[in-house]
Amino acid sequence: MASPRRLTVAIIGRPNVGKSTLFNRLAGKKLAIVDDTPGVTRDWRSADGHLAGIELTVVDTAGLEEAFDDSLEARMRRQTERAIERADVGLFIVDARAGITPLDRHFAAWLRKGKTPIILVANKCEGNAGKPGLMECYELGLGDPVPLSAEHGEGMADLVEALTPYLPPDEPEDEEAEAEEPLDDEAAEARDNAKPLQLAIVGRPNVGKSTLLNSLLGEERVLTGPEAGMTRDAIAAEWSWRDRPVKLVDTAGLRRRARVEDKLEKLAVADTLRVVRMAHVVVLVLDADAILDKQDLTIARQVIEEGRGLVIAVNKWDAVANRAEALQQLSDRLETSLPQARGIPTITISALKQQKLDVLLDAAFEVYRLWNRRIPTAQLNRWLQGMLESHPPPLVDGRRLKIRYMTQVKARPPTFALFSSRPVEIPEHYTRYLINGLRETFKLPAVPLRFLLRKGS
Ligand code: GDP
Ligand code: GDP
Repeated sequence: MASPRRLTVAIIGRPNVGKSTLFNRLAGKKLAIVDDTPGVTRDWRSADGHLAGIELTVVDTAGLEEAFDDSLEARMRRQTERAIERADVGLFIVDARAGITPLDRHFAAWLRKGKTPIILVANKCEGNAGKPGLMECYELGLGDPVPLSAEHGEGMADLVEALTPYLPPDEPEDEEAEAEEPLDDEAAEARDNAKPLQLAIVGRPNVGKSTLLNSLLGEERVLTGPEAGMTRDAIAAEWSWRDRPVKLVDTAGLRRRARVEDKLEKLAVADTLRVVRMAHVVVLVLDADAILDKQDLTIARQVIEEGRGLVIAVNKWDAVANRAEALQQLSDRLETSLPQARGIPTITISALKQQKLDVLLDAAFEVYRLWNRRIPTAQLNRWLQGMLESHPPPLVDGRRLKIRYMTQVKARPPTFALFSSRPVEIPEHYTRYLINGLRETFKLPAVPLRFLLRKGS
């Protein structure tokens, strides 16, 4: 069953831009005004709502305007800081009709230094009224504005699109332990690493997936009678390795398929994709005898595109006569057919004889660790400056591209936003240069990295 896609968003902005209006729209009628008890001043209001399949917890910082005086800045910082730190994404609202004000600029400069990704929302854009203000929005250095009319409900689809990159991967229950207090990068990493690793075993029919699964879980469990099926699947689902929790994804489906005798059974692409999306790390099982056919490559690409960690298990290694030759063949094929897989751990195993299964699991946990990696913004930008100096961005139309700033917007997988004057014009070779450098400097081999190019001056 699909898990809800949940996001906490904080609505930020100077007074009168439409924060409350947007809050009410996102929160839905029944929860519109959360607490209006006289005498109770709330720092912020929060409510749950839905937007096109996304479950939102919306935090409104509209209470700020009470302090629209000398102490504005201090209050703004304190309260907004708390709201934003709790949020996955901040929605920074400006009034496109009124245009950008000094307070907007001040706010934007401050928001850009924070860790939480910010989506710039240009409100009051119904009809064409907001057009001029929309252009001004770019100067805030927060990327493309999302034009919206909170009052008329226009532009909500664009808002959904802007929020989508920040949605967590489909993860059923294991996010519930989410800490209340804001965490620094290290603490967040430690928390993520303590969450169960959701591991999927995928591959073509007959490569040895069920054998691997059974070996991992231990013979005796496999031998229990069919009436114990439920229990067995429960054991399979929750499990541990060197005292660390592992959850095997879609074990039941795997067992079911394994019983199907039809060896011509085509691997349903949609099915694999579903499993891949539920997983954090995917073990792609290959048969040492028939390494890397088209279907294997398709699965590997899917895993990488979905931003999951990948480990390749070359199974039936016990039956390989010429191992050196087999290894050479494998690495040649990987190199030519799947260059994006460079550095991906490739472990030769025997599921049947239970050889190297510990190496395989250690590799899976190492990929998981990297997948959870968070790099502090200051470190990233120090590194970025060095990269820009040793190899400046190219000229485009005679003008030097300006790359200003970089931040990691999320982990699982590590996702970075790069701010530039003309993001669409950054050539791919330059992005590749940065990504390769990032992998090398911060020791992030073989884990999917996402790179968002954003406009920002
Ligand atoms: P807040 O102070 O940021 O919470 O702003 P409010 O939500 O109270 O809105 C301030 C004013 O802007 C109100 O008069 C709203 O009716 C108006 N407003 C909010 N959204 C829109 C919109 O999309 N279009 C227009 N034209 N007015 C809006
Ligand atoms: P699945 O369809 O991917 O689940 O594959 P199975 O686990 O059903 O295995 C298919 C066949 O390969 C079975 O006959 C297994 O005994 C055999 N097999 C699985 N793992 C190994 C292995 O490590 N070495 C050898 N020699 N055979 C294996």
